Amino acid sequence: MTVTEAADRGCFLTPEALLDLDAVRHNLRRAREAAPHSRAIAVIKSNAYGHGMLRIAAALSADVDAFGLARMEEAVALREAGFEGRLIALEGYFDSCELDAAIDCRIDVVISRSGQIHLLERYSGARRLDCWLKIDTGMNRLGFRIEEAEAAYRRLCQCRVATRNPRLMSHFACADEADNSFNDLQLTGFQTLVERLGGEASMANSAATLSRADSHYQWIRPGIMLYGASPMARGCAAKEGLRPVMTLRSRLIAINHCRAGDSVGYGASWRVPESMPVGVVAIGYGDGYPRHAASGTPLLVNGIRAPLVGRVSMDMVTVDLRGVPGARVGDPVTLWGEGLPAEEVALHAETIAYELFCGVSQRVRMREVSSGGAP
Ligand SMILES: *Cc1c(COP(=O)(O)O)cnc(C)c1O
Repeated sequence: MTVTEAADRGCFLTPEALLDLDAVRHNLRRAREAAPHSRAIAVIKSNAYGHGMLRIAAALSADVDAFGLARMEEAVALREAGFEGRLIALEGYFDSCELDAAIDCRIDVVISRSGQIHLLERYSGARRLDCWLKIDTGMNRLGFRIEEAEAAYRRLCQCRVATRNPRLMSHFACADEADNSFNDLQLTGFQTLVERLGGEASMANSAATLSRADSHYQWIRPGIMLYGASPMARGCAAKEGLRPVMTLRSRLIAINHCRAGDSVGYGASWRVPESMPVGVVAIGYGDGYPRHAASGTPLLVNGIRAPLVGRVSMDMVTVDLRGVPGARVGDPVTLWGEGLPAEEVALHAETIAYELFCGVSQRVRMREVSSGGAP
């Protein structure tokens, strides 16, 4: 029997990520409801935040106005897979070879430094390219500062290769905190420039899509909300009308009846307080479950919340089963997703849902399901 044959027969105990593609379409509709007058750039960089770039692109392609990718390679791969719509490389091109790829594959580029404009000025081919100009309004990552922006814009308008006047783009540093005054500072700077230069603009990520209508402009750029996690700091996805797309599941592979004073796992760091059942779940940091998830991180065993105890191993975690008296070997365990928000798990691991999703490793089987989530 080959690995594939056996897997097709459901033979192996492998952690699974169930992907609810109806939920991703629902979440896009939520973004559109929040910004009804804007077009939507669905951000699917980093393998669609770990959900599978081609899968998510296929699920959304009829409903989006563009896809946003970080790197040129991602955009070229998506074009090569047959996606005909607008693709935007959010980090633009790094050198003339990437520029050629963008032109060849009709990929919009976001231009953030003078050297990129220089390459356009030297381009002598006949083909054309859509450009966006990235403005650094305070993030200090990519983009022209407000005071440099007008000169860069004028230079870009002079480039024959650019199809039209560039659209303007900027990015919030603190949009997840709706009342952070830095958001106002960034938006005011951007707005001044938009008024001066005219044309279309884009500023809002997921958080700003939900919380700042004054930042919507003509194009919104939702990312994390499409995958059903709240973009707001300590936000609640369900209250925001979002549905989780990924449910990460595995199974109980052992139940140990431990005695008071026993220790559990590496470092013998967790001490058993009383005679109790401790379950062993087949998932670990080798699957992308965060090693920093602390004792107390919630899991769902048979749909019932139970706290993680002890250190996360490469292939296993251990769980306090005192609250799940009927638990048996083989029972399903949800690590995050339907019934257990990834944001909540992330807080216990001192990270964010974005990182949890992106970190799900190759050996987790991905399976598409339709709504309702877990079958
Ligand atoms: C990743 C990214 C987004 C999407 O951000 P979310 O917080 O996931 O909504 C939008 N714009 C740019 C430039 C990005 O890099």
